[in-house]
Amino acid sequence: MREQLQALETVALEAVAKAANLEELNDLRVRFLGKKGELTAILRGMASLSADERPVIGQLANELRRRLEESLAERTAALAAAAKQAKLAAEEIDITLPGRPFLLGHQHLITRTLEEIQDVFLGMGFSLAEGPEVETDYYNFEALNVPADHPARDMQDSFYFGPQLLLRTHTSPMQVRTMEKLCPKPVRIIAAGRVYRRDDDATHSPMFHQVEGLAVDANITLADLKGVLLTFARAVFGEEREIRLRPSFFPFTEPSAEVDISCFQCGGSGCRLCKGTGWIEILGSGLVHPRVLELSGYDPEQVSGFAFGMGVERIAMLKYGLDDLRHLYTNDLRFLRQF
Ligand SMILES: [Zn+2]
Repeated sequence: MREQLQALETVALEAVAKAANLEELNDLRVRFLGKKGELTAILRGMASLSADERPVIGQLANELRRRLEESLAERTAALAAAAKQAKLAAEEIDITLPGRPFLLGHQHLITRTLEEIQDVFLGMGFSLAEGPEVETDYYNFEALNVPADHPARDMQDSFYFGPQLLLRTHTSPMQVRTMEKLCPKPVRIIAAGRVYRRDDDATHSPMFHQVEGLAVDANITLADLKGVLLTFARAVFGEEREIRLRPSFFPFTEPSAEVDISCFQCGGSGCRLCKGTGWIEILGSGLVHPRVLELSGYDPEQVSGFAFGMGVERIAMLKYGLDDLRHLYTNDLRFLRQF
């Protein structure tokens, strides 16, 4: 029996050492140490041993079992470690490889310019107003003192949906809508958005963006308008800018003025941009026409107001030196990426 045990040990240890994976080890455990395993089979012969031999063989069998179990545990640990190493090697990441670049977009020039303009006026205490792009004839023209025979009402200039509905041709309807809502309280708003006209060339587009400003309160004068616009001009075009107001005509303001800024390219001495005059026109403005105040519910004897409107595209073209407004709408990335 002694020899049987020794032979079993030799075979078992060799098999364990050769086991290639955890399943094989498990099979070996069952084969040698299991209830129906080879060790149990040998020990069944114990009954035929003498009383002296039994404890000796019993002890040998226990030691064999212990050594086999140790060997199985060692091999299990070794195989597990090897499997882990293999897995790590397979999943290895080369952190020195260059990453995939993220393509970052940026704001469109129109949006950027619009937000810059808005920020200047919000900083002066104006708030934002919004309104519909499809307007009624009343808000777009009538309430702004644009008489029925005014050229701006010609079908050639506006996009009509019918006799009373059209795409707004300017943001000025927001003046009326806001005044109707706030009357008799003071007004200090800017309204920005798309406007539509039947125009299409290098400096005109059938759709463009306007920013409209309006202030109504007691004792508002042309000096207030000039101060606000000077602040705007300097914030957007540089601290050295001066502005000048030239008499003009708009049906909804009286008096009306075109506003020029001193040329930011030549500083006023004259260049191609300012066509040699030293001045560049940037917007239209004036004091709100008493008739417009009246139509919106205000008493022109009690309050006065100023209004101004500018084209966002024009400001962007001047600020970024663009020669053709259509660049802004063609979505040519070679153009857009320059800014
Ligand atoms: Zn100039």
